[in-house]
Amino acid sequence: MRQHLFNASNIDRYREQMSRGVSAVADHVATVSGPSSGASVEAVGSRVDAVDLDHPLDDIGAALSEVSRVYLDDAVWFHEPRYLAHLNCPVVIPALVAEVLVSSVNSSLDTWDQSAGGTHIEGRLIDWTAARLGLGPEADGVFTSGGTQSNLQALLVARGEAYVAGDADLSATLPETASRFRIFASRDSHFSVEKSARVLGLGMDAVVTIPTDERRRMDAVALDRAIWSARAAGHVPMAVVATAGTTDYGSIDPLDRVADVCAQHGVWMHVDAAYGGGLLVSSRRRHLLDGVERADSVTIDFHKTFFQPVSSSAVVFRDRRALRHVTYHADYLNPRSSAQPNQVDKSLQTTRRFDALKLWLTLRTMGADAIGEYVDAVIDLARAGYDLLRDDADLEVVTAPMLSTLVFRFRPAGLSQADADVVNPAIRRTIAGSGSAVIAGTTSGGRSWLKLTMLNPETTIDDLRAVLDLVCETGHRLVDERHTSQEVH
Ligand SMILES: *Cc1c(COP(=O)(O)O)cnc(C)c1O
Repeated sequence: MRQHLFNASNIDRYREQMSRGVSAVADHVATVSGPSSGASVEAVGSRVDAVDLDHPLDDIGAALSEVSRVYLDDAVWFHEPRYLAHLNCPVVIPALVAEVLVSSVNSSLDTWDQSAGGTHIEGRLIDWTAARLGLGPEADGVFTSGGTQSNLQALLVARGEAYVAGDADLSATLPETASRFRIFASRDSHFSVEKSARVLGLGMDAVVTIPTDERRRMDAVALDRAIWSARAAGHVPMAVVATAGTTDYGSIDPLDRVADVCAQHGVWMHVDAAYGGGLLVSSRRRHLLDGVERADSVTIDFHKTFFQPVSSSAVVFRDRRALRHVTYHADYLNPRSSAQPNQVDKSLQTTRRFDALKLWLTLRTMGADAIGEYVDAVIDLARAGYDLLRDDADLEVVTAPMLSTLVFRFRPAGLSQADADVVNPAIRRTIAGSGSAVIAGTTSGGRSWLKLTMLNPETTIDDLRAVLDLVCETGHRLVDERHTSQEVH
């Protein structure tokens, strides 16, 4: 049984089985002809349930065939040009090569004695990111599992700073004070801001929602007013979360104006650039992030606009000293006396993947500019898609994109708002069931909308045209069917 362990005596088996794994994926991808099989939840569930976990197949080939049936056959393929739903990206090959190294060596990035080299590589990439952000020489940060964890850590640190910096009347214990802390974020900010507030024990009213303008960007004047009224009510402004690329609209809050407001009130400024972070490497649109250099903390998801496999994300702070709010010393791991650079001092996690190697191998193989070109390509595509939507009398669109999403809906002349609210989600479900495209749905102003998220530089305007044609055809058919069935009844 010991032949399964990864070590020098089993290295031939490692080579052989790894290449079979690669072949299983490669053979599959070579024949995939759409973003999904369209299989139902029940169908996939029953295939998975049929596997008897207590009877191993004793053969990697047989196990891989089984995995093809229960996983690959019905996988959703983000590299397919008509996958246009969420912020999932096709991935670059150098990062996949790095995945093999990361999981085979299996370093854990908590302490230096488990990750020599890895500790410094992650540090270099944090420095590189901080430099691109313009955060200054004292910046530091850490890789995380995703934007959700990055936002949580940033807000945890902001909470610590607000507590420490508080006036005399903050001398109460944290839970008592915390109920007065307020976080300000636009109505289109990511739900992880609200979730973080709950996790941090700040209470249900902690997040103050700031309205947005017609391009769905935070209204900085309204932000200023909201902070004044919070202070007047005896609340403590703990942080402002500006979003650089909202999940639905790709809108970028006015970072410079938000920074002015934060500076005036002495409030922590967090920028959630989970989505917009890719602009850091764009040659044509880096200016859209102007003002980010004034942030106290920044979230960036490499597994979105840097085309990295999940997970790959970071949270970066202007002042490394702020990271002390996540530092705990465990005698067995990172005792106070340790002089070694232990990344666990900066992270919410303990055992942690060496995800940074994927970005490292990406930058060392293809370079940042190539990534930036992909980012520009998907933004160009979204602009072209916006023109298609505006020109189509059967479709309405919410706003021109700043990044690469389009929120729109099928609403031909004569279709009521209420009917459109029923038909649009049905269009999405019908298209999902066909497997020919995958698109998303969302709500705006209490109504149902459809959403396209473009993260694939290989998607063409013809793909978009074909998907929008499919939306309209499906919409007209569903409307006709509704009319027919209403006449019958
Ligand atoms: C995706 C996203 C997040 C959450 O990131 P995960 O990596 O999914 O945890 C946070 N904020 C914004 C704006 C996002 O788009």
